[in-house]
Amino acid sequence: MSYRINEEYPGDYEAKQAILEVGRRMYAKNFVAANDGNISCKVGDNALWCTPTGVSKGYMTDDMLVLTDLDGNVLRGSWKPSSEMKMHLRVYTENPGVKAVVHAHPPAATSYAIAGLPLNRAILTEAVMGIGEIPIAPYAMPGTEEVPDSIAPFVNTHNGCLLANHGALTWGSDVMEAWMRMESVEYYALVSMYTHGLIGQANELTCDQVDRLIERRTRSGITTGGRPLCRNCGADGIPACVRCGSPEAVARMNAAAQTTPAAASEATPEEIAEVTRIVQSILAGGSFR
Ligand SMILES: [Zn+2]
Repeated sequence: MSYRINEEYPGDYEAKQAILEVGRRMYAKNFVAANDGNISCKVGDNALWCTPTGVSKGYMTDDMLVLTDLDGNVLRGSWKPSSEMKMHLRVYTENPGVKAVVHAHPPAATSYAIAGLPLNRAILTEAVMGIGEIPIAPYAMPGTEEVPDSIAPFVNTHNGCLLANHGALTWGSDVMEAWMRMESVEYYALVSMYTHGLIGQANELTCDQVDRLIERRTRSGITTGGRPLCRNCGADGIPACVRCGSPEAVARMNAAAQTTPAAASEATPEEIAEVTRIVQSILAGGSFR
């Protein structure tokens, strides 16, 4: 089945099938527990299909999906949309180019969101070129306007963000793109966890390597994703490079350095064994194959 969208918006059937398929994948990959997570897809300038509240996203049927307008008013369907739809609606209002939004709680990305750490180190060529840097939206009280306000600054510049103490949010030009970005965010987080946390070492890309990857990304038509930090930039006593050296980047690096937890070398063997056990159980649960 192809989910490629050639026209500006998918039809109702196509949008709903894509949402159901992504719901199954999200649940099967352990990106959500119980009834968590939500997915939406625009089918017109002021209409979108979204997932209902109180239902496992792995077992949805198309009669459960709800059609709303961009203000969240239900146009079709008898189920209640999730209160987290406010986030989705804000993404669509901020960036009319976005056609689909996915929200999940994947374990590695959520761990970074809890630690208060953005995914902004240049460690994976694919991540630099594809998903880009993943910032973290500040903590927001669930169900309030703070949540949409917290993510608004990233919607036009990035492809997704972490939600402090909560989970992750990604968006794209169709449901599959938004979903694949969610998979990329989780993969980036898991590899960051292995390298920085478990192995305790990552050979980060140099400024020049990052520049060349971003140049290729721009040539392929992707203008969002920000710029991850390059190797050593902002490390003790090393000034940031010209590209990383904007006042915002330096402030960001300083903030990240302050919130960085103790180095892996300071962890006890018991702590390392416990983290290894948790990651192994995530893998056994099918989070990553
Ligand atoms: Zn959530």
